[in-house]
Amino acid sequence: MSLTRTSPVVHILLCHSPDAPGAKTANGWSERQLAADVNGCLFGRLTTHKITVWQHEQDLLARRIRILKKAMSVSPNQIAVEVHFNSFPDPKTRGFMTLGRATSVHSMRLATCIHDQIQIIRPDAPDLGVCGCSKDRRFVGTPQEFKQTRLALLEDVPQWVCIPEPATLSNPDDTKWVLKFDNRRRLGYAIATGILEFIDTLTLEV
Ligand SMILES: [Zn+2]
Repeated sequence: MSLTRTSPVVHILLCHSPDAPGAKTANGWSERQLAADVNGCLFGRLTTHKITVWQHEQDLLARRIRILKKAMSVSPNQIAVEVHFNSFPDPKTRGFMTLGRATSVHSMRLATCIHDQIQIIRPDAPDLGVCGCSKDRRFVGTPQEFKQTRLALLEDVPQWVCIPEPATLSNPDDTKWVLKFDNRRRLGYAIATGILEFIDTLTLEV
């Protein structure tokens, strides 16, 4: 398979709906609402760069995966990004992490490119690292949190998949940061920059 930058397709997926198990909220905001602003900016910046972007609205994971599998017939160069916000039992735990599929070099590189950009705009927040997820080893990296639904997603989505978790809604400082609209806009911009850098690495392989 030859990789070119002529036809990358980016799929933007939705995080937990407000009533889904595992959905996070902060000060009355659901993570879905917070991610919507991030995704909006991400969409805008990618389309400005002539990247084809598909926004998905299916809540049902099985249905989403069916559509994503079908989409692969369009082009082999496809990226899927699903922005979530983290939560930890200890409210003092905070920071940002980015998940990729441990068994996919491309997925991990995509996660690293995005993570590096988030790090630039969150210099004071703890860096929880880029985590490779797999069915066998759960997380390769830190922290050792187990997230069943996200693992399933990372395994079954055929695209180069990445889950940025740019802030922790169980922590008051992170929540304060993410409740500022401008910071959500900056997150969308940063994630887009990471994706564009990842696409640039693809051209080097041609
Ligand atoms: Zn979530």
